[in-house]
Amino acid sequence: MNHNEKYLPYKFRYMGTEWTIRFGKVGRDERGLKYLGRTIWGKQEIRINSKLEGTSMYKTIWHEIIHIILGEHSDTQVIGTEELICRLSSGISHALDENPWLQQKIVKGEICP
Ligand SMILES: [Zn+2]
Repeated sequence: MNHNEKYLPYKFRYMGTEWTIRFGKVGRDERGLKYLGRTIWGKQEIRINSKLEGTSMYKTIWHEIIHIILGEHSDTQVIGTEELICRLSSGISHALDENPWLQQKIVKGEICP
């Protein structure tokens, strides 16, 4: 077991689907650079590069969560570029970190029309 795993809840739930967060091999992109994380759509798995820890690990988890929220590989897909996803995941992470009051439960529902 990776030493990071004991600090994670292992599961991410979103819109009725449960995703498992695991550490392991994530593969390389077309330039040969190792991914930090991957969303494995068929398995409902968020896989995180096992070398990551701390802030980089949480930023990567948020990054993959944004991919899931945008719904790639589903019939409700919203197109998101990697740059947009990086900006959103990093921004949400900073906003929650700097505004703990935002972490309180809000009423379920859509914020945007
Ligand atoms: Zn990405």
